[in-house]
Amino acid sequence: MGLKVYINGEFFEKGQACISVYDHGLLYGDGVFEGIRAYNGRIFRRHEHVGRLFRSAEAIALQIPLSPEQISQDMYRTLELNGLRDAYIRLLVTRGIGLLGIDPSKCAGPQVVIIADSIELYPQELYENGLKLIITKTVRTPRYSFDTRVKSLNYLNNIIAKIECLRAGVMEGIMLNTDGKVAECTGDNIFIVKGSQLATPPVSACILEGVTRKVVMDLAPEAGLEAVERDMVPEDLYAADECFLTGTAAEIVPVVGIDDRQIGDGRPGAHTATLLSMFRQETEKDPG
Ligand code: PMP
Repeated sequence: MGLKVYINGEFFEKGQACISVYDHGLLYGDGVFEGIRAYNGRIFRRHEHVGRLFRSAEAIALQIPLSPEQISQDMYRTLELNGLRDAYIRLLVTRGIGLLGIDPSKCAGPQVVIIADSIELYPQELYENGLKLIITKTVRTPRYSFDTRVKSLNYLNNIIAKIECLRAGVMEGIMLNTDGKVAECTGDNIFIVKGSQLATPPVSACILEGVTRKVVMDLAPEAGLEAVERDMVPEDLYAADECFLTGTAAEIVPVVGIDDRQIGDGRPGAHTATLLSMFRQETEKDPG
């Protein structure tokens, strides 16, 4: 039996799970989404993800036709129907079917989609040897143009940066904001360790406020680190003792090089390893 996809309360076989070509999610990237993980049948940081989805929707004046609790129940139904316990969940809400013009008020109503699929893990080699990054020439969209906390269906700013990374032969890249400060990676947040300080750029640096980022900041004191949000320039990254990325799919990935510079001793750092093992314990504790 194939995978079943949820659309507006109904389940469809993966091949038959379709959204209209008139949906403004497709025509204009007009919609919001979440990327979520389930560990051992429990949806990790469920409230944080569902909360962010509702805040994203509110920011683009999109009324989600379900309550946060209903959405949670429907995510669990989707997991169960597909017999999945460790999974990646893609939850999205589009503006719905409209006319060919951009006017969202002409759209018939939001479409809620839930896809639960097996999780494609990053290669183990990345966690053991670390990742090399570039700093992309593509600048992060300024938050006065569009609030970067909104996880919208329009990811072209990040996709263009990702294309730069692929052309440079690396998997990820660091995007700077219009002030030349470090923002985030194309699909992950960034951290550095310097001495006993764990630093990550603030929301004002034009980032998506990652759920994993918050988990890591909360774990910092127990790992003997002082977590701070502060503006950084590329030189701060080059001079870091350790560097790592955080994201729902990636969890915590060590960074060992940026551009042609080595970070620390060129090996994944000890604090990074500690935080990753603490993070994994956290995934076992989360009630879902
Ligand atoms: N920044 C961007 C641009 C992202 O797409 C993601 C992944 N959703 C993140 C950061 C990390 O966020 P999270 O920890 O909530 O997955």
